[in-house]
Amino acid sequence: MTDDLEQAIDEAAHLIVRARHVVALVGAGLSAESGVPTFRGPEGLWTKHGEPDLRDYERFAQDPKTWWEQRIERAGRYGELVRALETAQPNAGHYALRDLEGTGQLQHIITQNIDNLHQAAGSLAITEIHGNRTKLRCINCNRRWPLDGFPIEELPPHCPDCGGIVKGDTVMFGEPIPHDALEECVNQTRMCDCMLLVGTSAVVYPAAGFPVDVKTSGGTLIECNPNETPLTEISDVVLRAPAGAALPRVAGRVREMSVG
Ligand code: NAD
Ligand code: ZN
Repeated sequence: MTDDLEQAIDEAAHLIVRARHVVALVGAGLSAESGVPTFRGPEGLWTKHGEPDLRDYERFAQDPKTWWEQRIERAGRYGELVRALETAQPNAGHYALRDLEGTGQLQHIITQNIDNLHQAAGSLAITEIHGNRTKLRCINCNRRWPLDGFPIEELPPHCPDCGGIVKGDTVMFGEPIPHDALEECVNQTRMCDCMLLVGTSAVVYPAAGFPVDVKTSGGTLIECNPNETPLTEISDVVLRAPAGAALPRVAGRVREMSVG
C-alpha cells in the first residue's frame, strides 16, 4: 500500500525543485513542536482562554507609558506564551527551512511568528509580518533595535532619529502591519511560483491573501498542517502531518532530486 504522506512528500519535493521562486508562509503551528502554544486549534490559547481584546493598540496609543510599565513588570495577559517563548528552541521544521534555503531551493520566509526561532535556526531571508519579540520599533519611521541594546531613560522611550514613540516590535491587535514588511511580502508574493504553507490557520489577513494571489497567477501551493484549513481546498499538495516530522523529509527528498 502506498503511504499517502510519503507520496505527498515526493510530490511536494517535485514542485519545489521545479519552481523558480519558493516562499514559505509560516504560522504559529511551526513553533508548536518547540513548546510555543498557538492561538487557534485544539490546544490553542484562545480555545482555552477565550478571544483577545482587539483594542490593544488603541490602548497603547492612548497611554504608551502604562504599556511600558506593564511590560517592565511582565504583567501581560499572555503569561503562558511569554514563558514558553523565553526558553523555546528551534525544532526540526525550522532547520528544514534553513536547509532548503541553504541549497537554494527556498528564496524567502514570510512569517507570522514573533519568536525569533527562524533566526536561531540560521535562516536568513525572513520577513516578519507581526514583528519580533526581541526587538523594539519606532512607530513613526519603523527603525528597529535589539531590545537589549536600547537605552530606556524615559517612558515611553523616543526614537533618536525622528522623535517618534518606541514600542515593542511585536504587532498588537488593531495595529497596522509595518509598511516596510508588507511591501516585502507583496514583492515576494509577486515573484513566488510555489508557496509552502506551514502551520498557519490562514484566517489572519493580509497573510491569508498571499497564497490566493500565488494560485491565481498560476503558482502552486503546498500545505503542511496536521489539520484542515480554508487553504486546503486550493492546495496542490497537502502534507497532513506536524511540520517537524514532514519538512525534514521534504528537504531530504529535494536534496536527493537535486543531486540525482
Ligand atoms: P494559529 O494559532 O491561528 O494557527 C496555528 C495553525 O497551526 C493551525 O492551523 C494548526 O492546525 C497548525 N498546527 C498546530 N500544530 C502544528 C504542527 N506541529 N505543525 C504544523 N502545523 C501545526 O496561527 P497563525 O495562523 O499563525 O495566527 C496566529 C497569530 O498569532 C500569528 O499571526 C502570530 O502573530 C501570533 N502567534 C505567534 C506565535 C509564535 O511566534 N510562535 C505563537 C502564537 C501566536
Ligand atoms: Zn523614528
